[in-house]
Amino acid sequence: HKPIHIVGGGLAGSEAAWQIARRGIPVVLHEMRPVRGTDAHKTDGLAELVCSNSFRSDDADANAVGLLHAEMRMADSLIMRTGDAHQVPAGGALAVDREGFSQAVTSALEDHPLVTIERSEVDALPPEDWDSVIIATGPLTSPALSDAIRGLTGVDSLAFFDAIAPIVYFDSIDMEIAWFQSRYDKVGPGGTGADYINCPMTEAEYNAFVDAILAGDKTDFKEWEASTPYFDGCLPIEIMASRGRETLRFGPMKPVGLTNPKDPLVKPYAIVQLRQDNALGTLYNIVGFQTKLKYGAQTDVLRMIPGLQNAQFARLGGLHRNTFLNSPELLDPTLRLKAMPRLRFAGQITGCEGYVESASIGLLAGRFAAAERLGEAPSLPPATTAFGALLGHITGGHIAGEEGGVRSFQPMNVNFGLFPPVEVPKVPGKRLRGPEKALAKKHALTARARADAAIWLNGTTL
Ligand code: FAD
Repeated sequence: HKPIHIVGGGLAGSEAAWQIARRGIPVVLHEMRPVRGTDAHKTDGLAELVCSNSFRSDDADANAVGLLHAEMRMADSLIMRTGDAHQVPAGGALAVDREGFSQAVTSALEDHPLVTIERSEVDALPPEDWDSVIIATGPLTSPALSDAIRGLTGVDSLAFFDAIAPIVYFDSIDMEIAWFQSRYDKVGPGGTGADYINCPMTEAEYNAFVDAILAGDKTDFKEWEASTPYFDGCLPIEIMASRGRETLRFGPMKPVGLTNPKDPLVKPYAIVQLRQDNALGTLYNIVGFQTKLKYGAQTDVLRMIPGLQNAQFARLGGLHRNTFLNSPELLDPTLRLKAMPRLRFAGQITGCEGYVESASIGLLAGRFAAAERLGEAPSLPPATTAFGALLGHITGGHIAGEEGGVRSFQPMNVNFGLFPPVEVPKVPGKRLRGPEKALAKKHALTARARADAAIWLNGTTL
């Protein structure tokens, strides 16, 4: 077989290389370190963990990333196998000895007879005779390669700056207070005119909210972030608030074109809007609420919003450099660039977030590229699995009501909001409530996922 080329030997690229080599296909892995560094990596090891040493929860029964661990183990993941071998004590989490981990991943690939590691930067579009390429260069993709990719995808399609707004679980929003309505009842394509959730504020509530934002603890900019300018239209809420007491009220919190059906005669002083974030409608993002408030301060401040007093967050807001593609538009279901199908993408650059998620998308890209090389039809993971749920977030899903039917795409960790709903099995004579019911739902989702993953990967039931 001709080799498959992988650009970037991080979490995703290393896993992809392993998956391809184990199918008997040669791989050339191009990693620019140590010839050229990034602002976060410190070593020349493959799969270096740039920040924390945690793969997060290892609970495959009640946690979405724990479930992803389990599915990756079933798929003979190099990252999981090595993580397990280099585990350090961390309660229910899987944390690893970062040096031992990275060295072991590096050795496993260096020692594999089908893997060649080239230490050089790929600084332009890969040459044409690389007929199958996986680009897994991560959030800190080198500028030369980002420019080349941007030349192919268009300026707006590769975001360099990640201004993320918080995402809330729908079932934690108090709909006794909030209501569905689009501004001026505008009906977008496939929408109903009631696509947004609105949370009203009185003048006193607004003022207290602005004060809390201004007082809240902010994350410091890292040196390498300080030179990155804010994009127009995605200023953090604390910067807007610092520009004047009314700025938010004339910005993302403007109360115009909306009427509270619960109190139609009282005009709210300000309104916070939430927009559906996934096709299932289980997740909503707070529109225009990108923020660098520290996580603790952020949850406290956001729960001051009427209707969000009990909000549970699937992701909190943040702001850092992050190169990622507008994947739902640009990639096909097997992660190939529609405009140049010999290029596949994997890892954080596709718009997932986190070490494990990045590795899992590397695993899928590796399987898809290997199947293609062997002349097999690629087999997509079922939507009910963690693999499928995450892949669906990246490559799928137009949402009714959005301009042009296209959702605003933001990177995300794997979470239960990405899974199709499940029936919770009834226990005779018992009515489950609250936390018990939520746990039963998680158990049902994870049991279904593991069973479907086993069939997908091995053709057998667990
Ligand atoms: P990476 O692991 O970054 O791998 C990309 C590789 O490509 C690198 O080795 C790089 O040197 C190489 N490369 C780049 N450009 C080129 C080129 N042109 N030619 C050749 N090689 C190239 N996630 C967590 O789960 N926990 C955290 O604590 C965490 N902290 C983070 C902190 C920072 C500062 C950043 C930026 C991200 C963090 N992430 C964290 C998010 C993310 O999970 C990691 O960045 C993860 O490593 C992404 O995996 P990846 O394989 O996509 O990219």
